[in-house]
Amino acid sequence: MGRIYNFGAGPSMMPLPVLEQAQRELLDYKGSGMSMLEISHRNALFEEVNDQAQAHIKQLLGMDDSWVVMFMGGGASLQFSMIPMNFLTPGKVAAYAITSTFSEKAIKEAHKVGKAVEIYSSKATGLDRVPRPEELKLPENCAYLHLTGNCTAEGLEYFDYPDTGDVPLIVDMSSDILSRPIPLDKFSLIYNGAQKNIGPAGVTVVMAKKEFLKGRDPQLPTMMNYETFADHDSTYNTPPVFGVYLVDLMSQWLLDQGGLGAMEKRNRAKAKLVYDVLDAHPGFYRGHAQKDSRSLMNVTFNLPSKELETRFVAEAKEQGLAGLKGHRSIGGIRASIYNAMPLEGAQALTDFMENFWKNNR
Ligand code: PMP
Repeated sequence: MGRIYNFGAGPSMMPLPVLEQAQRELLDYKGSGMSMLEISHRNALFEEVNDQAQAHIKQLLGMDDSWVVMFMGGGASLQFSMIPMNFLTPGKVAAYAITSTFSEKAIKEAHKVGKAVEIYSSKATGLDRVPRPEELKLPENCAYLHLTGNCTAEGLEYFDYPDTGDVPLIVDMSSDILSRPIPLDKFSLIYNGAQKNIGPAGVTVVMAKKEFLKGRDPQLPTMMNYETFADHDSTYNTPPVFGVYLVDLMSQWLLDQGGLGAMEKRNRAKAKLVYDVLDAHPGFYRGHAQKDSRSLMNVTFNLPSKELETRFVAEAKEQGLAGLKGHRSIGGIRASIYNAMPLEGAQALTDFMENFWKNNR
């Protein structure tokens, strides 16, 4: 069929069985004579999909009824604004750890709303690590702590989240959501654009403790208020119907794979394959992340010259390994190995990397 291994950072690969099911159901969803692209969001068939997608995500993450799962538009970037608009109330200070170009974008929006402070930054060393919990000191009157859980552009990931006590912890998990189990008790709100690990572009998934969302300022614009989504099952207005349907299929697929414990094993095995090549040829493949911050989702590295990097990307593409060019903010090479990338894809990449090293060292 000529499908490639797509190492792009997002939108990225989706599992073939998910795409095939969507294809089978495209023209006539469950005997309705309609496609999910055409169905009303008030139709019982969509209501079932909406409920199921939420239930699957909760089941995967082990969320009880104190959590709500919401589907929105606007991408993770809209969350950068919604979070301070909802939670950075007068007299409070929002704390941000800067580990990514996306953390910088997040705090930029908070500054427009109220007082926000950087309590950690790895910018001086080129955004190459995430902090250990003890490096994060919260300010007085802290509205929340915001972390970028997986730094897509830089290839960093948190494996040890801080205990923030009464201060809500908010995490951008755009690029590692549902890739492994997480210590749910620590978080108040988690968000992600679906287009990397759990679906297509166009849906943003926001998961929050119900208590945390209560009591928002009624003067907030309706569509900027989390309570609107929580109180109306994400259907106050027309949600991204087809995207939610694909999130449902994808989360069902994750359950079929054995859930997040099984995904973590597979994701760790894939990452190990690629990082082992970096470590075997450190003078040639120079990893960007410090070792204890290495992301399981995005492996970032440089080659000895820009010219070699360009050739690497082009030759890989010829062999069906696409999307390896690094993020424009840090350059180099980036291999995104999200949930849908099979072990064989990571193996094909490492074989290519070994050969490329032999031919160009
Ligand atoms: N946060 C992170 C960690 C991301 O990787 C991205 C997208 N690459 C964003 C936020 C922005 O997401 P979106 O394009 O969905 O607004």
